[in-house]
Amino acid sequence: MCGIVGYIGDKNCVPIIIEGLKRLEYRGYDSAGIAIVNSDGCQLIKTKGKVSELEKKVYEENLDAKLGIGHTRWATHGEPSVVNAHPHMNNEKTLFLIRNGIIENYLSLKKGLIKEGYIFISQTDTEVLVHLIDHYLKLKHTLFQAVRYALNEVEGTYGLAVIYKNEPDKIVVARKGSPLVIGLGINENFVASDVNALIAHTRQVVYLEDGE
Ligand code: GLU
Repeated sequence: MCGIVGYIGDKNCVPIIIEGLKRLEYRGYDSAGIAIVNSDGCQLIKTKGKVSELEKKVYEENLDAKLGIGHTRWATHGEPSVVNAHPHMNNEKTLFLIRNGIIENYLSLKKGLIKEGYIFISQTDTEVLVHLIDHYLKLKHTLFQAVRYALNEVEGTYGLAVIYKNEPDKIVVARKGSPLVIGLGINENFVASDVNALIAHTRQVVYLEDGE
């Protein structure tokens, strides 16, 4: 099982995401990662093993951002490794995605994307999704629309969160078969795969239904 935590608001997202991931540690995982978007651009940090390892790396970098997503992974496709850890990103390093679940038709989607010129660096089923969303962004759709079009092509289950450098005012989330909960705050919003990651920040939560 994986853990998902995302934050957008006026605080530094990094400690909020790290603390949230720690609250999900009981679910079990093999690797962890975080992606942030700020005025300097985007940054992605991933580790094999514990959230405390990720925490060390993140604090060494002194990251500060108002938008970010973090993940703890339980490998289903591709061994536990840094490259297979989430978040996954597009080739331009502007789009980042975390996800729980399994994409059943990922091999056929991957073949099509490779023909289009997409370069895959991991063995996961998840990387297909980030390139598929990128494909729709390149057709001039908004992030929200691109995620919807991409998910129309996917067979399987997901709880996911996506952030994009060119639309730094939002996190797009979706769910089918994997839990996802949005936390509402004042000048800030959260997303997580489990309400435990949010209770330190807000009691106002919205559980997503399948298909939302
Ligand atoms: N199937 C995805 C992977 O192996 C997600 C695993 C998970 O739910 O943690 O990367």
